[in-house]
Amino acid sequence: MKAYLSDRINSMSTSATLAMAAKARELRNEGKDIIGLSLGEPDFNIPDFIKEAAKEAIDQNYSSYSPVDGYADLKKAIAHKFQRDNALEYTPAQIVVSTGAKQSLANVAMVLINPGDEVILPAPYWVSYRDIVKLAGGIPVEVSTDISSDFKMTPEQLRNAITPKTKMIWYSSPCNPSGSVYSREELEGLAAVLREHPGIFVVSDEIYEHINFRSEHASIAAIDGMYDRTITVNGVSKAFAMTGWRIGYIGAPEWIARACTKFQGQITSGANAIGQRATIAALEAPVSRIQYMIDEFLQRRDLILKLLSDIQGFRVNVPEGAFYVFPDISSFFGKELRGHTIDNASDFALYLLEEAHVATVTGEAFGNPNCIRISYAASEKEIREAVRRIADAV
Ligand code: PMP
Ligand code: GLU
Repeated sequence: MKAYLSDRINSMSTSATLAMAAKARELRNEGKDIIGLSLGEPDFNIPDFIKEAAKEAIDQNYSSYSPVDGYADLKKAIAHKFQRDNALEYTPAQIVVSTGAKQSLANVAMVLINPGDEVILPAPYWVSYRDIVKLAGGIPVEVSTDISSDFKMTPEQLRNAITPKTKMIWYSSPCNPSGSVYSREELEGLAAVLREHPGIFVVSDEIYEHINFRSEHASIAAIDGMYDRTITVNGVSKAFAMTGWRIGYIGAPEWIARACTKFQGQITSGANAIGQRATIAALEAPVSRIQYMIDEFLQRRDLILKLLSDIQGFRVNVPEGAFYVFPDISSFFGKELRGHTIDNASDFALYLLEEAHVATVTGEAFGNPNCIRISYAASEKEIREAVRRIADAV
C-alpha cells in the first residue's frame, strides 16, 4: 500500500519522541513496568487559575470559530508578554496564534522555504525541525556540535555553513534536546555573522524560555539587525504544562505573519477557542506564579546529574534549561551488553527499553548519533528508580 502513498509522506520519518512514547505505552499495556523518560512533557497539572479561565470560557460560550490568527485580546496579551519578557515590540498584526508551536514552525516553513533552499540546523536540534524543513522542500544543513562546546554552534561554524542557497537558520534556546542556553553574547556573535548576509532568516524557538536556570533569557530578535528577519516562536505547552491544549504563537515581521495566517486559513483555521482563552490567563499572570515548577525542574536536574555521574561511560553536560539531559554514551559502542550488541545510540536506547524498562530517545533523531535524550519531567521517585535500573543494565 505504501506505493499508493505520496512521495511526500513516504520520505518523512515518524516523530521519534512520539514513537518512543507510543512504544512505552504499548509495553505498559502488556503489563511491563516501564518508566517513561522519552516524552518532553511536564508532569505537573495545569495551574488552577488557568483551568478557571478555561471553565469560564466554556460558560461564556466560546464555541465558534475564532479569527484565523487568534482572538484580538489574546494577541494583545502576547504582544504585552513579548514586551515584558523579551524587550520585543510586536504589534498584534505581527502575531499569529496556532495549534501548538509545532504548527507555528510548520507555517513558517511552508511560507518561507522554496524547494532547494538550505536551512541551517545546529545539531542537536529538536526532532521535528528536519522533517518540517524537508516537507517544505528545504534542504536541512546540519552543523554538528558536541559536549565539548556545550552543544552550541560557534559563529565560525555558522559562517562556514552559509552558502548562496542558505535561506534560514533554526534553533531552540533553551535547547531541546541538550538543555543548552545561548547567552546574549553568544547570540551577538551569531548575529554578527548574519548581518553580513541580509537575506537569511532566523527561526528562534523559545518555547522553553521560562525553564531556564541561568535566569537570563536572550531573544535574538532583540539584537541589532535581527528584528526584521527573525520569527520568534513560543507557546504555552512547556512553561504552563498545557501540552494537550495545543496553543503556540509567533511574533514576526508583519508580511510573514500575514502569510502564515493565509496558510493556516486553508489548513486548520484558528486554534481551539477554549485553549486561547486559557492562554490569556496564563500569559497575563506574573511569571512568579509558575516559579514552583521551574524550581522543581532545577532540583530534578541536579538530582539526575548527580545520579548519572556515578555511571561509568556516561558523559553529561550541565543543561541550563529545558528538562532534558543528553548524555554522550558512545563509550558503549562496539560492546556487548547482556547479549545485545550496541553499535549506536538507537541500539542503546532500545537496550534500555528492553532490559531496564526505561524509555529514552536516541540522539540520532536529534542529529547527534553519540547521545541519548532523557527527559527528567518525571517524579523524583521515577528518576531515582530509572537511573538505578540504567546503572544496573550497563
Ligand atoms: N519546539 C520545541 C523545541 C519543542 O520541544 C516542542 C515540544 N513539543 C515544540 C516546539 C512544540 O510544542 P507544542 O506543544 O506547542 O506544539
Ligand atoms: N517536544 C516534546 C518532545 O520533544 C513533545 C513531543 C513532540 O511534540 O515531539 O518530546
